[in-house]
Amino acid sequence: MRAVTYHGTGDFRVDTHPDPGIQHARDAVLRVTTTAICGSDLHMYDGFIPEMHKGDIIGHEFMGVVEDVGSEVGNLKRGDRVIIPFTINCGHCHWCKRKEFSLCDESNREPEKLAFMNGQASAGLFGYSHLYGGYDGGQAEYVRVPFADATHLKVPDGMTDEQVLFLTDIFPTGWQAAVNAEVGPGDTVAIWGAGPVGLFVLKSCLLLGAERVFVIDDVPERLALAQEHGAVVIDRSKVKPYDALMEATKGMLPEKVIDAVGLEAHGSGVVDTVYDRVKTATFQETDRPHALREAIMCCQKGGIVSIPGVYAAIIDKFPIGAAFGKALTFRMGQTHVMQHAPTLLDHIREGRIDPTFLITHRGKLNDAPDLYETFRDKKDDCIKVVLTP
Ligand code: NAD
Ligand code: ZN
Repeated sequence: MRAVTYHGTGDFRVDTHPDPGIQHARDAVLRVTTTAICGSDLHMYDGFIPEMHKGDIIGHEFMGVVEDVGSEVGNLKRGDRVIIPFTINCGHCHWCKRKEFSLCDESNREPEKLAFMNGQASAGLFGYSHLYGGYDGGQAEYVRVPFADATHLKVPDGMTDEQVLFLTDIFPTGWQAAVNAEVGPGDTVAIWGAGPVGLFVLKSCLLLGAERVFVIDDVPERLALAQEHGAVVIDRSKVKPYDALMEATKGMLPEKVIDAVGLEAHGSGVVDTVYDRVKTATFQETDRPHALREAIMCCQKGGIVSIPGVYAAIIDKFPIGAAFGKALTFRMGQTHVMQHAPTLLDHIREGRIDPTFLITHRGKLNDAPDLYETFRDKKDDCIKVVLTP
């Protein structure tokens, strides 16, 4: 089969691999019909994620048709159409029983590699390095789905691939970020990042009744799409987010702030002097975590900082003093996709949201190397790429 594979930083190729087969009684093999490129894939593309091996198959946003099932997979059969959550869930461990699926103990058996987490692993992930189980990803013609009986959601008849594909990751991720921030009617929220995740955070905040949602970025077409979908946008290349938020909220600042940026390899290079006012610390544009630090500085006292953006290992320049002094609450983590996806499927079926609004590029697997570059560099107004193997 053909698959998108890792060969080094900025070097993803389409290679030929042996077709996957059933290795365990709880496995299924899926013929992938549609898959997407995610901002999280860019962290591997940009060289931020350790334990990547040459030839590893990338991809964690995918869906398809069941080809084969192991003997213990009683709830799936050949021909079923399913979406697959990006976190692999055993369905039975302490964490899966609590619906905290992205903490599944069973699906990641390589915790010793997670030294920065003191050996405590989060769930296994498709196509996301040997830190998270080393599972092959779904930017491929076929993929093995471990624990398949607990790691799927069936697609109702009559729904297209593009209508449900983002239930694998970015829609539940946006939703969980808003729920973690306890967004509700009347709230003022600010979101850093108008990428696919930030846009789904925006949609989720509005579905949950938020009154005003600010979206901060510097990419004009992403800001334009956010505005079209109900955001008050702040172009950080033109104004300082802190000043704009102070003015718009009459000095109160938003009570909920959401970092939908995460590890930044491709910031804008705009010099930000907001922190000149913080006389005890000096920060440069290149200091990380930039967006998170700004979100903390822009959060109302007593507010909530929700972090769907991905971080790994250790990042310096985290303003713990401001967080402590303002009595902020922090919530973060990988998304418990299977906890949220059924609710969100209802929102789609009942017409409250059309998740296809952000797709700008469609291609075949062979187009993936070019489309990775297009997506990372935001060329050609690229917001979200969908591939059909
Ligand atoms: P993306 O790279 O397409 O979008 C990020 C956006 O942030 C870009 O538009 C960029 O211009 C903007 N940005 C960069 N620096 C900024 C700054 N300092 N201030 C404001 N905006 C800034 O990625 P995406 O697909 O939208 O994903 C966003 C993040 O969410 C990534 O870190 C990704 O790994 C993460 N993610 C997390 C989960 C989860 O389970 N928690 C799931 C999916 C994605
Ligand atoms: Zn993703």
